[in-house]
Amino acid sequence: MRTSVIGYPRVGTLRELKFATEKYFRNEISADELQYTAKVIRKKQWLIQKNSGLDFIPSNDFSFYDTTLDTAVLFNIIPDRYVSLGVSVLDTYFAMARGYQGEAGDVKALAMKKWFNTNYHYMVPEIDDAIEWKLVGTKPFDEYEEAKAIGVETKPVITGAFTLLKLLRYVGSKTAEDYIEDVIKVYSHLLEKFQKLEVKWAQFDEPYLVHDLSGEDLHLFQTLYKGILSSKKDVKILLQTYFGDIRDCYKEVLAVDFDGVGLDFVEGKNTLKLVEKHGFADNKILFAGVVNGKNIWKNHYKETLDILKRIKGIETVISTSCSLLHVPYTLKNETKLPEKYTRHFAFAEEKLIELEELKSLSKCQETKADVFKANEALFQGRPDCNNVDVQERVKKISDSDFTRIPEFSVREEIQKEKFNLPAFPTTTIGSFPQTADVKANRTALRKGEITEEQYIAFNKEKIAQCVKEQEQLDLDVLVHGEFERNDMVEYFGEQLNGYLFTEKAWVQSYGTRCVKPPFIWGDVSRINSMTVKWSTYAQSLTKRWMKGMLTGPVTILNWSFPREDISLKESTYQIALAIRDEVLDLEANGIQMIQVDEAALREKLPLRKSDWYSEYLDWAIPAFRLVHSGVKAETQIHTHMCYSEFTDIIKAIDDMDADVITFEASRSDLLILDALKENNFKTQVGPGVYDIHSPRVPSVEEIKRALNKMLEKINPEKLWVNPDCGLKTRGVTETTASLKNLVDAAKELRNAEK
Ligand code: GLN
Ligand code: ZN
Repeated sequence: MRTSVIGYPRVGTLRELKFATEKYFRNEISADELQYTAKVIRKKQWLIQKNSGLDFIPSNDFSFYDTTLDTAVLFNIIPDRYVSLGVSVLDTYFAMARGYQGEAGDVKALAMKKWFNTNYHYMVPEIDDAIEWKLVGTKPFDEYEEAKAIGVETKPVITGAFTLLKLLRYVGSKTAEDYIEDVIKVYSHLLEKFQKLEVKWAQFDEPYLVHDLSGEDLHLFQTLYKGILSSKKDVKILLQTYFGDIRDCYKEVLAVDFDGVGLDFVEGKNTLKLVEKHGFADNKILFAGVVNGKNIWKNHYKETLDILKRIKGIETVISTSCSLLHVPYTLKNETKLPEKYTRHFAFAEEKLIELEELKSLSKCQETKADVFKANEALFQGRPDCNNVDVQERVKKISDSDFTRIPEFSVREEIQKEKFNLPAFPTTTIGSFPQTADVKANRTALRKGEITEEQYIAFNKEKIAQCVKEQEQLDLDVLVHGEFERNDMVEYFGEQLNGYLFTEKAWVQSYGTRCVKPPFIWGDVSRINSMTVKWSTYAQSLTKRWMKGMLTGPVTILNWSFPREDISLKESTYQIALAIRDEVLDLEANGIQMIQVDEAALREKLPLRKSDWYSEYLDWAIPAFRLVHSGVKAETQIHTHMCYSEFTDIIKAIDDMDADVITFEASRSDLLILDALKENNFKTQVGPGVYDIHSPRVPSVEEIKRALNKMLEKINPEKLWVNPDCGLKTRGVTETTASLKNLVDAAKELRNAEK
């Protein structure tokens, strides 16, 4: 058996690419210097993969921002507003990724969306009728040759034609069907080039196939590949799927002339059944995704080998279940975690070893092998993982724990009277810019260079400045600024029992943004209050309302690496009880508005609709209610989500029973508004009026336009005015300028309403 990896992380083991790119954005290094850093990273990891013994090594899985965007640019799917900036190819690319504001013009970034059920975000390419499909880029070829030059034969990876057409945003009158011929043409060109370069295998990523597919979808898929594969000649094509099984198109996929088909045996709960029931194709190789590309636990060899035995007789390549982009680079950089824990983990580099070990185990009488025995021993139990009190508390949760009283409409009246806010109240999502001094303060504490008192004093000073600034800006509902937080999940995880932390286990979230998800190791509980001191201090500085700021249980779970030995539901309820304790603590200490962020609520929403409720929402929404059902009627519960894609789960969102919800809307055309109206959404709403993922400053007019558009669909009594997410990644100047315009826009609107 041979081995394959679908894709490798790309920001660099120590986030070298992130830092270089950000320097480039600040004009501190040249494009050449940035390219050089990228090249060094690619070389290093190709060699690591090669030296591990890996047989199929990916190339073109590298990206300066996002591979879907790379594919769009490769095929000339570049809206004219970016082309007409007239800047370099690289800068045009970055303008699409993050907007551009400068001498050449002022354009917003493309929309950004969650990548399937992960916390990675991709750029949504946009196509209008004027765009002509053309193979204009050389990235896949360059990278293939670059690897070859250092002696590494790679399989170029590219977004598949079907997935690309499904993910595109069509802003003209044409739809996917209208582009079939163009798409066949450009992918055929791509294959011709691969042919010339003597590429042996190319990988077409088609994760979209794991969705529920319609008849038209199937037809589109078949037509595309019939056309594209007619020009493949000697290049072998691997059709790679991941994030689930392909039960809607299994037979159809096998009927197409691919040389290899990659299936996900980890998340695809029906994959094994499909293969056993329908068999496989004689002329194809099965790339079996058995090593989890999304989680950090060691592979359980016995279970994996059992799967491989059940598909014996099929020519198989042992593969990861998805790209390793979703796990950190290597355990080697973790110097602080004791070995009793680390031996249970495998990051990208360690997964390469697992592939190699599985390869050799699959060839021998495995039970006799030492690596097999050592692996078995790991699954006999883990230290420090059980807390009987927590387990009991979860068992005792009853229906009433999920219900807040009185009901929403009664609370809304009570709160209106109590808070007495102006129309269109203004607020922010919580964080203020994490400037260098804020980060340095945290680092200094971590390194023991300052005392806890000094650390706190610094943050208090920051909070005081932040409160003062918000008062000067005349925002209505204030926040403390979250200067104490490294990250919205890690911060809480660090204070909870049951969590483990890493030093360098970064994972890309989008572009240059990385997160370091904590690991849920055991049963979770709260030790002490986590935010009360910051929030009460901030409240003591102002007469305005101060929002307490917490992260919700579903998000904490979804942005952590979860356990695999108990259910996600059980872990989430444990976390919910811990956050509930904190909510009640804040309330008892005089905080009367509490925001519980569920930024990642949608993240683990199953990709197939039929599984939405039974496998996820039926416990995720109650988990949120469990957090706030204990507060008084006059305590206002806010929540925040980082995307507007909840049109289809809008009832579930309303069922969270929060009093106010803010969410991202500016990047996705405010489509959500119709859904809010149609569904008679009861919760008050603050659809973000500008995009904080980009440094550009929105004008008052622009914000007013957005608000007026919102008012067409939203009851004015229910509308809040806020940015679309926290401001932590932004600079101070643009933040102040943007918020000033935001407040001005709200005021002008108030005056207009009078
Ligand atoms: N309160 C958090 C912040 O403002 C929310 C972040 C998020 O939604 N990702 O940073
Ligand atoms: Zn957000």
